[in-house]
Amino acid sequence: MTATTVQQERTFLTHANRCDTCGAQAFIRALFVNGELMFCGHHGRLMTIPLQQQAILVEDGTDLINTPSTNANSD
Ligand SMILES: [Zn+2]
Repeated sequence: MTATTVQQERTFLTHANRCDTCGAQAFIRALFVNGELMFCGHHGRLMTIPLQQQAILVEDGTDLINTPSTNANSD
């Protein structure tokens, strides 16, 4: 299976959603049949190929990192 990478809605991009590996703010969400995983930009990039091979959907919000006028950096 190949995941579709989307850059639309990205409602997961809040301070409350943290990387499942290191606890930093999540910018990438991977949806699986039985749940989801979230990653910061660093760990998301490390996992890009496995995620795209195994996830149903990969949402990538890394383009919003260091963009102060977006939802990603405001509460
Ligand atoms: Zn991380």
